[in-house]
Amino acid sequence: MSTAERETPLLRLEGAEVHFRAREKLFRTTIVRALDGVDVSLNQGEALALVGESGSGKTTLGRVSLRLLEPTGGRVYFDGEDITALSDGRLKPFRKRAQGVFQDPFTSLDSYMTIRQIVEEPLIIHKIGRGNERRERVEWALDEVRMRPAGDFLDRYPHMLSGGQRQRVGIARALVLTPEYILADEPVSMIDASSRAEILTLLNELQERHRIAYLYITHDIATARHFAPRTAVMYLGRIVEEGPTKELIADPLHPYTQGLLAAVPEPDPANRLQERDVLPGEPPSPAQVPTGCRFHPRCPAFMDGLCDVADPVPVEIDGGDGGTGRTVACHLHTDAGRERQASSGE
Ligand code: SF4
Repeated sequence: MSTAERETPLLRLEGAEVHFRAREKLFRTTIVRALDGVDVSLNQGEALALVGESGSGKTTLGRVSLRLLEPTGGRVYFDGEDITALSDGRLKPFRKRAQGVFQDPFTSLDSYMTIRQIVEEPLIIHKIGRGNERRERVEWALDEVRMRPAGDFLDRYPHMLSGGQRQRVGIARALVLTPEYILADEPVSMIDASSRAEILTLLNELQERHRIAYLYITHDIATARHFAPRTAVMYLGRIVEEGPTKELIADPLHPYTQGLLAAVPEPDPANRLQERDVLPGEPPSPAQVPTGCRFHPRCPAFMDGLCDVADPVPVEIDGGDGGTGRTVACHLHTDAGRERQASSGE
């Protein structure tokens, strides 16, 4: 790996925004802030989990990262190139290097195509190989996702496969182009529990074997610990905490992360958080983002006159050893918040 490769993240979103106007009443519209100023980066071969409740903006961020959605603000860089506003034609080299595996293996595969046609299609679109060469590459991709022997599956249709097998086909279709980046958007949420661990293990193995960078989107923070060394937590269109997964789970800093973890059934009572930390209520609509800290109406640590007024910016948390690579956006970790806590404790 060259120095340049080490220094340039493979994927980088800078202040990414997706705002759109939605009709509220007959003659009234409102601005929906689905993604509201997100900075995130992913190095070559790295896996980052993106967790949060539904409606937090995870899928929007994922779609922006693949340029399936053009952001209304901010920039998207891939391997140092600004791809924010490239036309479809100029995005083609990027599309070959960046692929997606999506949530629903029942609708994401064309039911009228055979498995061979489904996996081969990206090769045709990108004019890669022909005839036997393509067939070999399709069989290679099916073998990589452990659909063996690959030849047995080529002429089958999606309805002849289980949910887990369909998701493997979806992964093979992404893998056949040997991409450097894969967005895995809730890849196991719609398949039966018995296949989930197998699919996550498979994605892990492929990442290591082919040095693929993953953005792994999930509402289930428990699966992040088995999959990604780094985790970012999203709430209402923003990343509120980010850091090494082990540390983030062992010692969550943001009250929202604490709530997400408390909602996970934890077999070891020593690791259970207190009931008061569990998230109360539902996330507000991204059309009505609260003032100040957007989490304040649900936060058990809310500080009146601060949290409802000032929007906390992400701060780096120093672990005492020159930094831990952790950031959190919460007044509990700002000077103003610490002063408030000190004065209320006097
Ligand atoms: Fe809670 Fe205030 Fe921190 Fe927001 S800034 S998470 S309201 S303590």
